[in-house]
Amino acid sequence: MNNPLVKVKNLKKHFPVRAGVFSRATGAVKAVDGVSFEISPNETLGLVGESGCGKSTLGRVLLRLIEPTAGEVYFNDKNLVTLGSEELRRMRKEMQIIFQDPYSSLNPRMTIGNIIGEAFTIHHLAKGREKKDRVLALLEEVGVHGEAYNRYPHEFSGGQRQRIGIARALACQPRFIVCDEPVSALDVSIQAQILNLFLELQEKYKISYLFISHDLRVVEHIADRVAVMYLGKIVELAKAPELYKNPLHPYSKILLASVPLPDPKLKKKRTIITGDVPSPINPPPGCQFHPRCKHAQDSCRQTEPELIEHAPGHLVACHFADAEKP
Ligand code: SF4
Repeated sequence: MNNPLVKVKNLKKHFPVRAGVFSRATGAVKAVDGVSFEISPNETLGLVGESGCGKSTLGRVLLRLIEPTAGEVYFNDKNLVTLGSEELRRMRKEMQIIFQDPYSSLNPRMTIGNIIGEAFTIHHLAKGREKKDRVLALLEEVGVHGEAYNRYPHEFSGGQRQRIGIARALACQPRFIVCDEPVSALDVSIQAQILNLFLELQEKYKISYLFISHDLRVVEHIADRVAVMYLGKIVELAKAPELYKNPLHPYSKILLASVPLPDPKLKKKRTIITGDVPSPINPPPGCQFHPRCKHAQDSCRQTEPELIEHAPGHLVACHFADAEKP
């Protein structure tokens, strides 16, 4: 692995739960609970898991859009958690986020030219004619006609709005982008075009992505490595081909087996994940997946498995990851 661009160490985000007249803290939602990983330059780490597993919170905490409860996040060897606001603002140029819903993330009262040009103004990168030229070049880069410059977000389709969101993220020439479900709101035919745009931009500008999605097919298309998240923790992390071919954690296996298959004849092989995700306020003891795991044994209910390397680069948090399971 290259020298990592992003290094996350034991990152936690616990939201206090308050009750009573005095709003006393009575517990905490452990949205992110001790997550560690690294992302190399020009690498895409896919982050998958069911809705509510903490993956979007992780993306935001990582950029310090939400303050972490504990842990460290190094970007280019600088710990973002301890940076002052001015230095953090300067670093933000290099770290951007693209959201799921391009409509709500684009100000409906601003023209596309102003939305994209805002980044040049905030970071004092360009003004006047130069700013306009750079916005037009970005629009061309993402496949949107320059006529969009004076128009408003509501005049565009979902796919075009996401292209505009990507242009805005690219304005400061970032080295790292958190992509939070960036194609989930789009039609399948448009999804492929946007994913290809992400790949082309990465190839050209050597950007690293943390690509968050609940859709394993989408992540397979774009990720170099994949992390599987469950109840605020990473339970498996491996190179994408390895994880899709040889998942070792029972949760990853179920997630992969529940992916809808395009061929209806293969339908009977699908597995539907059963049971609800337990409450992150009061997670089960031991392995947090044990109430839903058909391989659970007594030790699973008592001792939490650590995320350890079972094969080179393949980390799993399961006491029986090496055991043959039916
Ligand atoms: Fe299932 Fe036990 Fe592995 Fe948890 S540790 S995933 S309960 S087999």
